[in-house]
Amino acid sequence: MDSSKNYKLYIDGKWTNSDSGETFPSINPVSEGVIGNFQKGNKDDVNRAVEAADKALEKWSEIPAPKRGIILLKVAQLLRENKEKLARELTMEMGKVLVEARGDVQEAIDIAEYMAGEGRRLFGYTTPSELKDKFCLTIRRPFGICGLITPWNFPFAIPAWKIMPALICGNTIVFKPSSDTPLCATRIIEIFEKAGLPKGVLNLVTGPGGTVGMSIVKHEKVRCISFTGHKDTGASILKEAGLKKVGLELGGKNGIIVMDDADLNLALDGVIWGGYGTTGQRCTAASRVIVHEKVKNKFEKMLVNRIKKLKLGNGLNPKTDVGPLINKKAQEKSKMYTEIGIDEGAKLLIGGKIPKMKGFFFKPTLFTNCSIDMRISQEEIFGPIVSLITVKNFDEAIDVMNSVEYGLSSAIYTKNMNKSFKAIEKIETGITYINSSTIGAEVHLPFGGIKHTGIGTREGGWTGIEEFSEIKTVYFDYSGKLQKAQIDE
Ligand code: NAD
Repeated sequence: MDSSKNYKLYIDGKWTNSDSGETFPSINPVSEGVIGNFQKGNKDDVNRAVEAADKALEKWSEIPAPKRGIILLKVAQLLRENKEKLARELTMEMGKVLVEARGDVQEAIDIAEYMAGEGRRLFGYTTPSELKDKFCLTIRRPFGICGLITPWNFPFAIPAWKIMPALICGNTIVFKPSSDTPLCATRIIEIFEKAGLPKGVLNLVTGPGGTVGMSIVKHEKVRCISFTGHKDTGASILKEAGLKKVGLELGGKNGIIVMDDADLNLALDGVIWGGYGTTGQRCTAASRVIVHEKVKNKFEKMLVNRIKKLKLGNGLNPKTDVGPLINKKAQEKSKMYTEIGIDEGAKLLIGGKIPKMKGFFFKPTLFTNCSIDMRISQEEIFGPIVSLITVKNFDEAIDVMNSVEYGLSSAIYTKNMNKSFKAIEKIETGITYINSSTIGAEVHLPFGGIKHTGIGTREGGWTGIEEFSEIKTVYFDYSGKLQKAQIDE
């Protein structure tokens, strides 16, 4: 890869420089070296991108949805052909270990194929009228121009979760990716270009969130904003978006309950994968383990033994278990939260340090004797730090699980079927796993959270279509006379 290469914006089917004349680097979190330079977009670039999306809208939305789906299938095919190369670049750009990077690209392939199929459905419904000789139905329409703003932690999958349904519904797009992963975003666009997507339908503007992101959010021609990222960014977007449709996928403080009858080896795998996979940088990361007092000591030892064996390193090395954090700021944040945890009186069992090696690494960290009011049990750290909270019984476990402001994902390990069902009913999250970790979303199912994780947004599955289309209600009167609902007897 040529680190001095300047990558461009993609507007109206052309690769173009920003009006700002400035660039920013994307940094490899292992080598701390530059991967490439990207355009520091500004408001004028956003205006150009919106104009292009506006110009392309009518033609694109008139293409029958099943035919739009054919482009998505081509995209899926190209992603598949380039999967290994893309996964390696993803690992270089954000540090995720290669097996997980392959999963990220695979998720983009899956959603492209799934949404291509939805192009043959895009269901509305029909229903009888309360009047004679009258017929009622609903149809789906695109919003128009969608502004898609994405984070860095799933740099192929998350843009794909938005781009694919938005396109199949007939929208055009202005896409603003995270400044930590602009290369992956550029690769997505290259693939759409190769697949023959008409110009102007999908536009890429890289650059700072406060200028590029906010200009998209405030642009009067943008009808729908779909955002995934931090809760504070989401809140400011909601405030500024005005009368647009806004979808927000925000943070999490997800928990795994380990009951006294749990298969502890299974739970151990789940906590390690959920807590330390992607270096804890998943919105669904299991950052809290809520463990029954009867198995606490045993499970704690099992965890420490396993954490000791986790190998930190370059994700391209097949022996690496845990990659780096995304950047220096994230590394410092993990360090800060370790100090907070110690100050709050939690017991540091393992980790808690920046290792002596190049790159933004942080040692997998486990705290025990945590209480629910501690900041390390409440706040999203987005690093390899897990808090263990001991409980006396099932009811207390549920209370602890629900004691946070977020509501994304949760898990319970138990062999008791009644308790599993009770947990499904009582836990306040958008997703609950029984006897598996807090992660593992599949593209044909709704994904999203409650409380401060969002505002009811559910991407994936059929609900993904609902996020990117509007309903029109149609009354078809074939009586040949004026009929009045609610008035005619
Ligand atoms: P972030 O909020 O800092 O950035 C997300 C995107 O918003 C980036 O593209 C950024 O440039 C842009 N942005 C920043 N400020 C903006 C502004 N004022 N106006 C408009 N756009 C702006 O989040 P991040 O650090 O990239 O991602 C981590 C966060 O994302 C975590 O909180 C994580 O839980 C969350 N996340 C949630 C989900 C989910 O589906 N619920 C999935 C992945 C990540």
